[in-house]
Amino acid sequence: MIAATTFADKTIALFGLGGSGLVAARALAQGGAQVAAWDDNEVARQNARAAGFEPVDLATADWRRFSSFVLAPGVPLTHPHPHWTVERAKEAGVEIIGDIEIFCRERRAHSPRSPFVAITGTNGKSTTTALIAHLFSAFGRQVDIGGNIGVPVLALSPPAPDRVHVIEMSSFQIDLTPSLDPSVGVLLNLTPDHLDRHGTMDHYAAIKERLIAASAVAVISVDDHYVREIAERRLAAGQPTTLVSVAHPELSDGIVVERTIVARRMAGRSEPIADLAGVASLRGAHNAQNACAAVAALGDLARDRARVQEGLSRFPGLAHRMEEVGRRGNVLFVNDSKATNADAAEKALLSFNDIYWIIGGKAKEGGIEPLRPLFGRVAKAYLIGAASDEFARTLDGAVSFERCETLDRAVASAARDAAQSRAAQPVVLLSPACASYDQFVNFERRGDTFRTLVQTMLKSGGAS
Ligand code: ADP
Repeated sequence: MIAATTFADKTIALFGLGGSGLVAARALAQGGAQVAAWDDNEVARQNARAAGFEPVDLATADWRRFSSFVLAPGVPLTHPHPHWTVERAKEAGVEIIGDIEIFCRERRAHSPRSPFVAITGTNGKSTTTALIAHLFSAFGRQVDIGGNIGVPVLALSPPAPDRVHVIEMSSFQIDLTPSLDPSVGVLLNLTPDHLDRHGTMDHYAAIKERLIAASAVAVISVDDHYVREIAERRLAAGQPTTLVSVAHPELSDGIVVERTIVARRMAGRSEPIADLAGVASLRGAHNAQNACAAVAALGDLARDRARVQEGLSRFPGLAHRMEEVGRRGNVLFVNDSKATNADAAEKALLSFNDIYWIIGGKAKEGGIEPLRPLFGRVAKAYLIGAASDEFARTLDGAVSFERCETLDRAVASAARDAAQSRAAQPVVLLSPACASYDQFVNFERRGDTFRTLVQTMLKSGGAS
């Protein structure tokens, strides 16, 4: 727990008593602040009471007595409409911040030189955050990982020079961190997403740019238009920047991927650092981007190539993101349950060639139509859940398919067919391109079910 000493003796309003909000309330109280905490949800208020915070109704409070307002990142700050507490804070001239802003102030006050790596992007944040943390650990560093991934930042250990804080940040969290100043800021990519919460793409990109604006070193992956423009502004300002690219290995300076080799480019020359070939947890061009960014975030440590190679090779990967959950003969079983839309499923389809593809659930707008150019990689599709009719229409005449309805039947059928394949590496792939909630509570439960089904089948020797 990080006590928020920089707020001692202040009176702070806080809204949103879910996971990170309650931790922030505790951190503020421990640092000596008075906290007036509220949530619209009665269960959340009960949890707060149980944790020793008698909720204070912010609707009837006098906001002039608050010096800061701490808002949970899930609550709308701007779009589609500012939350009522945001309006009240603005009327009273109270600053609006999030828990990572509190962390930044503590770091500046007590340990300004302590390493703080912040990661953002539209996709790949969690993978890259986990990989950076893993690589620093491989170099023997003490690492605290959190933010948008797992543990709320204020529940971590306090900043210290010998400890690396590796913090994933969503755009909502960046928006609530006005003095964000990481020692390394990593910006992965920018594609339209969450525009309901950010209005326009320009506004969304401007928020993401703030992550690297005040970082001592910026790592910027320049493979899309928006990020390239941000990199150009940063370079024009002469601020320390490492460019990263998978699409442009000819970059004159930076970290790139040449086929499978992560290499450092210096004045147009390449020096290999590590090979991604055979690293099962980092398959595909999207993971090459994540790996490149992670190696760049290591800075000078990346000069120890053997250690980087060992770290990458031992990265276990994250569950539900192209997670290898079993093998039988040359057939691979891959859980990509996190792929809840066509964009994410595309990354998995691009990573394999002979695919026995389990798809379906609650379809997103556009369904799997955008994946049509990749249908040639699919040997057969297995349909589950509510999207079956829609997906059957899309696949009709292009890919053979079987209506399985449930995941257990899909796994059995796909395993049976893959076992007959003559390809070098057939893959039974759960990459559903759909939300899960027609059949499962969330994508994690769907992926866990897939993993259990596969492992049980492999143990029993069934469906071959
Ligand atoms: P996030 O935390 O940003 O949601 P994850 O690391 O959890 O990202 O990955 C989620 C999904 O996004 C993956 O399953 C994959 O389909 C896709 N993905 C991962 N890395 C990238 C990347 N660098 N570029 C594009 N898509 C990616």
